Amino acid sequence: LHWAQNRQNLGDPQDWLRAENLLPHQTVEKLTKWTVYQDEEHAQVVPIHNGRGPWESEDPTQHMLESRLSNTQVLMPGNSRAVEVDEVEDLSQLGEVCESSVLLNLKKRFHRDCIYTYIGNMLLSVNPFKPLSIYTEELRQQYQGKEKQQNPPHVYAIADVAFCQSQNSTQEQCIVISGQSGSGKTEAAKLIMHYLNSMYQGRNDNLRQVKPMEVLPILESFGNAKTILNNNSSRFGKYLHIHIRHGVVVGTSLSKYLLEKSRVVFQANEERNYHVFYELLAGMNEWDKQDLYLQGAETYYYLNQGRACELQGKHDKQDFLLLVKCLETIGLQTDQINTMWAILSSILQLGNICFSSYESESFEVARIFSEAEARRVGSLLQISAEALQTVITHRVTETTYDRIYCPLSVESAIESRDAIAKALYSVLFDWLLERINDWLIPTEMDSTVGIVDIYGFEDLGVNSFEQLCINFANEQLQQFVNKAVVTQEQEDYSAEKIQWYPIALQDFHVCLDLISARPHGILRILDDQTCLPQATDHTFLQKCHYHHGNSPYYAKPKIPLPVFTIYHYAGAVTYQVHNFLNKNHDQFRPEVLELFARSRLQMVSGLFRKVQERYMQQKELGARGRGHRQQPSTVAAHFQQSLAELISRLERCKTTFIRCFKPNYVKLPGIFDVDYIATQLRHAGILETIHIRKEGFPIRVPFSYFMERYGVLLPQRLPNASDKEQVVALLETVGVEEGEYQLGITKVFMKESLYQRVEDRWSSTQ
Ligand code: ADP
Ligand code: MG
Repeated sequence: LHWAQNRQNLGDPQDWLRAENLLPHQTVEKLTKWTVYQDEEHAQVVPIHNGRGPWESEDPTQHMLESRLSNTQVLMPGNSRAVEVDEVEDLSQLGEVCESSVLLNLKKRFHRDCIYTYIGNMLLSVNPFKPLSIYTEELRQQYQGKEKQQNPPHVYAIADVAFCQSQNSTQEQCIVISGQSGSGKTEAAKLIMHYLNSMYQGRNDNLRQVKPMEVLPILESFGNAKTILNNNSSRFGKYLHIHIRHGVVVGTSLSKYLLEKSRVVFQANEERNYHVFYELLAGMNEWDKQDLYLQGAETYYYLNQGRACELQGKHDKQDFLLLVKCLETIGLQTDQINTMWAILSSILQLGNICFSSYESESFEVARIFSEAEARRVGSLLQISAEALQTVITHRVTETTYDRIYCPLSVESAIESRDAIAKALYSVLFDWLLERINDWLIPTEMDSTVGIVDIYGFEDLGVNSFEQLCINFANEQLQQFVNKAVVTQEQEDYSAEKIQWYPIALQDFHVCLDLISARPHGILRILDDQTCLPQATDHTFLQKCHYHHGNSPYYAKPKIPLPVFTIYHYAGAVTYQVHNFLNKNHDQFRPEVLELFARSRLQMVSGLFRKVQERYMQQKELGARGRGHRQQPSTVAAHFQQSLAELISRLERCKTTFIRCFKPNYVKLPGIFDVDYIATQLRHAGILETIHIRKEGFPIRVPFSYFMERYGVLLPQRLPNASDKEQVVALLETVGVEEGEYQLGITKVFMKESLYQRVEDRWSSTQ
């Protein structure tokens, strides 16, 4: 993507690109298709990717729908604010529901900076990629305690409903935010936290107010990284529980799901490791850095594989100072913070350990090339450097009498080194999370609002074990969303004593079973194989092909490649099996645990002793449960379990959903890539959601409200009649068809068509 100061001077984009000399000549020749976007100051040339791409001026949806939608009325009941003609604030009010009508509606709103749109109780949000002035204190107050229809769609409205319901009911409230990477989930979560936090501040001076916002920089430093999709991508799923007492936020607790550990040792091109490393190197003073043997980021293998140590727009140095402040805020002692830095430095030192190979008993085995790094780790973490070198280059087997040290090949030694680095990081991350929770959890609370910020469906160039877990989570979550939407509709109708027959929904069970059912779901096979010493990625794949080759949701590759394909509800994804077993195993080796548990630094030994204890317990349980089938302790098993817990918790909550969309691949404002969004709409099952809502009576207006607005349409008010009777009389005047409305206890439920006629009639009187 390229920017030019002035489109008039730009001429042919190809000429311009050649003149600017920004891309190799051959690449420019290949770029024959593009779209030019323009605002007052800039023009942008976006090459069209995959032969399909963003369309703007010749957008087919535009022509197709222009006429069809022109008679679609757009005002929400009782709402006098202007909404552009042809637009709806709630997609269930669309005259005709199809992908293009939804897209066109979202697009028009997006270009007017209206990034939020409802489908009933669900909120859709399109990332503007620019600061908007819709998060002011005045706006916050405008939403406080109001009916949803009284204001334009906003994330504040969702936060407010959740808050009010938490005060009026004993049921836990939960807001589930999903969407693909870079779509604005974490920002939305932050906005909700801000809203809740500033809500009743100062109203109750006796309660200790904890500001959960203060821990966010810690989570971002340790859990976020630059990826190609998002410069500040959260690499773990999180469930925030905001605790409220007497209407005041008194604390928060946090659960995490699946931290991406592989990033600690590997980054794809143009990606970075976790922010904290770069912040540490940019922000720490030279003396302290020397003590920790630290140098520039480019010198570390674990930091510069993506060749993007610098991240434009991020101030690592300032962020480091902020991080330190936050760590102090949550009550960490100086020596604890210093030990954290020592652990991070050790990880970097480990990454720079190189190996040479030598022949031993006719095997090629690994030898550590330079001992300096291992010695530094030894001194930083107060462990024996020799022992560290031994565990990196050897596998230890315990027999009854003895320990046998078996030397590793260079490849295995690298894996062993990386495994230690990942272990250090994940143990540190978990410890930090515990400290954060210790600080945040209140002693007493009366209600909770949960916020789940979970990764969206992913189909990357190369999909691996992590994507399978993420997509499985999404498949399950989508199943839950669909069920919940139907249930909520049902509740709405029952509350008003209206008969309603829900439509049959697509059932995801077959695909979910394919992935996780016992005994042959893909993840179960993976677990079995992970625990077998002779098994490999290849044997795992063969077993999958054998058990699922005939499933309609599974496909073997046409040529013998090490891949399999799953037809998820959101689309087909092909997974590369390389390293599946390894990634799933992810156990700390006992000798590694023992080495660190013997550290003379209390914090380090404490961290690893705890892990050791957990292992011993598991082993004991395993020994006692012999004969029964034991749940293996693998990443997949753990992930499935925490997912099941999440879903069952959500089932007990009153849930609201926010669906985030990323408008373009290039992360820039003003571009609404219709194709790109269409794919995301499909991934989120948006059309189904609209249909569920529309199938019934999408417009629900309280009788009194209805009469207040449309009363003028009734030639004469009926004497002594209730609002309900007046509504019936009014609707008869307008003219109703069979089945166009139902009367509840307090509200009239209408089909879109009837509502349109009433609104039309009303506008003509204005
Ligand atoms: P996700 O968590 O879905 O991966 P983020 O919430 O980190 O995505 O958003 C990515 C980036 O998009 C943010 O860093 C910010 O620049 C921009 N962004 C997201 N939501 C908004 C918003 N409501 N207003 C302005 N910018 C936003
Ligand atoms: Mg995020």
